[in-house]
Amino acid sequence: MANEKTAQASKEHEKKKNALSIDNSFVPVEYDPQYLLMVNQLKKYFPIKSGMVSKTVGWVRAVDGVTFNLKRGTTMGLVGESGCGKTTTGRTILRLSGEKTGGQVLFNGQEVYDLSAREMRALRTKMQIIFQDPFSSLSPRLPVGEIIGEAVREHGLVSKEEFNDYIDQVMDNCGLQPFHKDRYPHEFSGGQRQRICIARALALNPEFVVCDEPVSALDVSIQAQIINLLKELQEQYKLTYLFISHDLSVVEHISDTVGVMYLGSMVEYGSTGDIFKNPLHPYTKALFSAIPVPDPKAKMNRIVLEGSIPSPANPPSGCKFHTRCQNCMQRCKEEVPAQHEVEPGHYVVCHLYDK
Ligand code: SF4
Repeated sequence: MANEKTAQASKEHEKKKNALSIDNSFVPVEYDPQYLLMVNQLKKYFPIKSGMVSKTVGWVRAVDGVTFNLKRGTTMGLVGESGCGKTTTGRTILRLSGEKTGGQVLFNGQEVYDLSAREMRALRTKMQIIFQDPFSSLSPRLPVGEIIGEAVREHGLVSKEEFNDYIDQVMDNCGLQPFHKDRYPHEFSGGQRQRICIARALALNPEFVVCDEPVSALDVSIQAQIINLLKELQEQYKLTYLFISHDLSVVEHISDTVGVMYLGSMVEYGSTGDIFKNPLHPYTKALFSAIPVPDPKAKMNRIVLEGSIPSPANPPSGCKFHTRCQNCMQRCKEEVPAQHEVEPGHYVVCHLYDK
């Protein structure tokens, strides 16, 4: 009997350890029409499986309560170290990573995760993604005209008669020539391949595009061309971008607002001017101290972060950044910091700003 009880207690303990924490503090937000995209407390956890029966023994908290709003026709930069959850955030917003674990994603006021497969298919044309590696994201077996036009035909966006002219126009807008239509991806340079990826996304006439490190695989001289192309197209088509990058100079150039992520959570968020002139969170300060200054006489006050980013499967207690923070206090190890609006529209999640 005693043995049975012990086994039961140990089962309960195991269950609790592996259970997803349900956040009772989640409060749904109302749709505000000035925003194309509203992301509220978004969570995406991946199960860690083990053993013969693939039992769930834990969770990787890749996205852990991300909140931000994105106005129409603007760009939000998402920055942070590799593995902080930037790409998973973008993919979860687009519903490309299965079901979310929690939170809200409102696109034009519609909860993306409430849509049926048919409704989601229709919405796909409005939400597009440009990937980091322009080579592996293009089918090597299809000519460029087919790569760009495949989804246009599939969704019936233009008539058969208009199809060729439409593809020519999209290619022209992206700096590609009509004769490129019959060529294959391997015949193009990296920059041209990224133009093809952009043309493929734009051909569907989207409103929102996730740009996932779109220039990091390109030479510096080509990067500027692609960034300028993205800006021109944004003006022309009134596009809204979520620009994911670890290159802070590029983010400063293209973004209206910036979100800084650490270990699946957003630690600071605000206008690009505020964030770059007055970074508040110790992690943002360390990240931005590494930006090279184009002045040989200027002294770099680089803040070097000790240690590596902890595992998102076993994040530190309290503030997730406390294991690497130079300003760490006792309460940081125990209490999760709240979000503070330090200046209008400039938010930081840190105990240093507690009132
Ligand atoms: Fe550092 Fe504490 Fe602020 Fe976290 S809450 S960033 S540990 S000062």
